[in-house]
Amino acid sequence: MKIGILGGGQLGRMLIQEALKYDDEFYTLDPASDAPCHHISYFTQGNFNDYETVLEFGKDKDVVTIEIEHVNADALAELENKGIKVVPNSRIIKTIQQKILQKKFYEENNIPSPEFEIMDGSSDEIKMPLPFVQKMNTGGYDGKGVQVIRNNEDMKNLWVQDSVIEKLVDIDKELSVIVAKNENGETKTFPVTEMVADPKLNLLDFNVCPVFLSEDIDSQIKCITEKFLNTVHSPGLFAIELFLDKEGKVWVNETAPRLHNSGHQSQEGNANSQFEQMYRVIKNLPLADTDTFTFSGMLNLVGAEGFSGKVIYEGMDEVLKLPKTYVHLYGKTETKPGRKMGHINVLADSREELMEKLIKVKSMVRVIA
Ligand code: ADP
Repeated sequence: MKIGILGGGQLGRMLIQEALKYDDEFYTLDPASDAPCHHISYFTQGNFNDYETVLEFGKDKDVVTIEIEHVNADALAELENKGIKVVPNSRIIKTIQQKILQKKFYEENNIPSPEFEIMDGSSDEIKMPLPFVQKMNTGGYDGKGVQVIRNNEDMKNLWVQDSVIEKLVDIDKELSVIVAKNENGETKTFPVTEMVADPKLNLLDFNVCPVFLSEDIDSQIKCITEKFLNTVHSPGLFAIELFLDKEGKVWVNETAPRLHNSGHQSQEGNANSQFEQMYRVIKNLPLADTDTFTFSGMLNLVGAEGFSGKVIYEGMDEVLKLPKTYVHLYGKTETKPGRKMGHINVLADSREELMEKLIKVKSMVRVIA
């Protein structure tokens, strides 16, 4: 089967890496000539936001999928009209691309998500009391396009553009759950993971699994995933990002209609990884089991502050000597501050051991130039 992926980044790369054990051809489209997928697939350099480029790329494929959601969804709709399978479908991609539509989707389907109002252009109508969070309707990514407005002074920085004004949640934990649905309607859910963010870069730092939650919290999450899977009328793999607030209530922050950084530890930590699952979704195969037998965690390898240029992974030889430690690099030659260059997965027998190992590995390795 000819499988086309919009985006040639690390998510696509790891999907292809996993799927090469089966018999398919992978095609990728990315604007960067040195994108992580460029050596390992039939690569087209081009803009996945451009209608004609996407149409041209997709027209001779059996299935088209995405590894980034900021793509031209109208072109995907046109490909669907021409009979080409698009996973996930263009409708859900459109909904998720726009924060306003995404929030309405939760509201309409009774999926708990922080209270919000829509700001279209002018700050005069905002009724939400301070402090609140402003999220751009489109274009946000990795924490960009999100800002906390705490006081009247901050109000000066308000973006004057279509956005969601959302209640600030008093967050206890940030959790994530990856769910999958195939065309036959079969569904599977990965165990919940906990994200520990780096406050400075706003990028995912550690991600650990499993997370021990009370029965009540577990059942709130189960209710959310069930509602989501019942109301999402599309095959796909979706990462649902959750907030657990200090009162024990679970809220949906946002959903990514694709493979996700919060699922990387599934590569060695689960019976099957999110990449295996995504492959099966694309091909409408029976979905894979997602059990976890051990404690697993992931540490992002992010370009260190002050270094730009040809990448050096300082300390990597020492890391490779550690047991149950797995290095994944994304094939990016140039590092810059904050750039995601790879990740390291670690397995352990307990949560304490896992945290110790992750902190140790973090202190051993540096991404410099
Ligand atoms: P992105 O899509 O860019 O990752 P998110 O919507 O996930 O943006 O927001 C980035 C981070 O901002 C979240 O991980 C969380 O820490 C914080 N955040 C977002 N929304 C809220 C909220 N309503 N209340 C408190 N913190 C929030």
